[in-house]
Amino acid sequence: MGFHVKHFDVIVVGGGHAGADAAAASARMGAKTALLTMRADTVGVMSCNPAIGGLGKGHLVREVDAMDGIMGRAGDMGGIQFRLLNRRKGPAVQGPRTQADRRLYREAVQGLLASQVNLEILEGEASELILEGDRVTGLRLIDGSEIKALAVVLTTGTFLNGLIHVGDQSRPGGRVGDKASVALGQQIRSLNLATGRLKTGTPPRLDGKSIDWSRLEMQPADDEPVMLSFLNRKPIARQISCGITHTSRETHDIIRNNLSRSAMYGGHIDGVGPRYCPSIEDKVVRFADKDSHQVFLEPEGLDDDTVYPNGISTSLPVDVQEAYVRTMLGLENVVITQPGYAIEYDYLDPRGLRPTLESRTLHGLYLAGQINGTTGYEEAAAQGMVAGLNAAAAAQGRDPVTFSRSDSYIGVMIDDLITRGVTEPYRMFTSRAEYRLSLRADNADQRLTPKAIELGCVSESRIAAFGAKMEALSQVTQLLQEARFTPKELAVVGVTVSQDGARRSAWQLMSMPEYDPSVLDRLVPELADHPAEAREQAGIEALYAQYASRQAADAEDLRKHEAMIIPEGFDYAALSGLSSELTGKLQRVKPDSIQRARQIEGMTPAATMLLIAALRKPSARKAG
Ligand code: FAD
Repeated sequence: MGFHVKHFDVIVVGGGHAGADAAAASARMGAKTALLTMRADTVGVMSCNPAIGGLGKGHLVREVDAMDGIMGRAGDMGGIQFRLLNRRKGPAVQGPRTQADRRLYREAVQGLLASQVNLEILEGEASELILEGDRVTGLRLIDGSEIKALAVVLTTGTFLNGLIHVGDQSRPGGRVGDKASVALGQQIRSLNLATGRLKTGTPPRLDGKSIDWSRLEMQPADDEPVMLSFLNRKPIARQISCGITHTSRETHDIIRNNLSRSAMYGGHIDGVGPRYCPSIEDKVVRFADKDSHQVFLEPEGLDDDTVYPNGISTSLPVDVQEAYVRTMLGLENVVITQPGYAIEYDYLDPRGLRPTLESRTLHGLYLAGQINGTTGYEEAAAQGMVAGLNAAAAAQGRDPVTFSRSDSYIGVMIDDLITRGVTEPYRMFTSRAEYRLSLRADNADQRLTPKAIELGCVSESRIAAFGAKMEALSQVTQLLQEARFTPKELAVVGVTVSQDGARRSAWQLMSMPEYDPSVLDRLVPELADHPAEAREQAGIEALYAQYASRQAADAEDLRKHEAMIIPEGFDYAALSGLSSELTGKLQRVKPDSIQRARQIEGMTPAATMLLIAALRKPSARKAG
């Protein structure tokens, strides 16, 4: 039987978070795009926790949104518990997050993709990349059909040679309910690309009807919810609370006594797991002195009794899972509806990628998401968007679209991945960004939307909304900078500054640590005529203005010291302030310069500054 060969500019393989934003971005660029996935009804599925955003991750979602990507908008449509994390800390480290109704989120993603022009969703399993020399020109499907394209984006998540483990039982699978991608996995292993094995796990799902909620502490949504997308102002779905319970000494005893039966601990898994999302087995072993861990009981949906117990992912056998969950308050009679499991899968070493996420060795092949060794929906979506933009740009003969460490968390992540690689699933943190005071979630649109508008991948309505925001912000900023007051005038409203006769602007006042926002209304009453959001945003800008210039100076300092030599035999153990983990890595790698040291995975800007300061001391130069 002959097949009609379809032709596209870009094919995206995978309908997870990387695939959805990759396909949407490519289509927004005007490229004729196909999203090929094993099952169209699983596009946008949340494989693990029902939540979008969080610390560092919320920044990525805002950046994807600023480029008109879909994750933030879908998160807002499915959001059932919006919480701004780190609300009491400075805006730079605040992370918007929402728990999501799993079904609403999936439907929102599918709806956004369905209404996207230039995009077609195809169902099927990719079994092989079609290669012409060192160029990828399309895909062969498991049914033998072919699809041709100028660029292919692979976002196959945990599916490549995926192996699911529960206790000592293991079977191939991409995630529960889905088969693994074995044929494609085998071909990729046979190509000359560096691959490795990673693992991750998920907790058992609980029947909410069998939980005694009356005994639990409850955590409500924020009173003033902060949305993920710059386009939205308030939640659509009803907001709910989640419950909080704790593991106990008894829970830990059961887990400890059964460690040999865990897939992770029983020697059944070769892959390396996510240190920052450890299994409960990991927690009990690594934090042996703690006899309790917090567990959030997160409802998976408004019309769904399933509850996701956040914090107890596991690969213990089902009978042990049942025994230990019932030792927790409120869960004494709980029913497990789906056991927890671990999954092991192939990833490709991201050091083989360009900043566009194109393979260095196979032209026209782009990789994004968990396949690059990252973990998390947000990291996946952000990479997907970058790969989608670039696959489209290449297909259209346009310039590459790149992001830098100084313009976005996206730039930080891609630079980390392609220069340092991964030794464990990579997760975003605010501490990874040296310019984090200027890379805030609140200004992601100011940083990136102009770039997106220039690329032509933004809807008319976003262009209008962004224009209106910037106009209001510039008016308020001008007002604040032009309103100037003598120390005497300030004293009248209760603000004490040194009596130096100098006039200070309202903008300067807002950057003072002891600044009280209520005096501003009296000093600059015209502000009341401007939108509250613009006033708030100007306040944040004013607060960070001085830090931003210091940060620019620090960045320059780091750059200047890149060539600094680290003498052989330098004593890293004597450096106070470095984590033992980093000390160990430095001792092993023995970098010969600051530039090399900066490339070590986990080497933060703060740690680099510590090292530079130590090297500047005369004693350091004598070492070796
Ligand atoms: P996925 O969401 O996995 O999507 C892959 C897509 O590719 C699917 O649509 C699939 O159908 C498609 N596909 C695969 N192969 C083919 C093929 N050959 N042809 C066509 N289509 C194909 N993240 C965390 O941050 N913390 C956690 O604790 C955590 N735990 C997890 C536990 C489990 C059990 C799993 C499965 C994942 C977990 N994750 C966790 C990871 C999170 O789910 C992923 O990071 C995220 O979903 C990755 O998105 P992705 O788009 O790269 O891949």
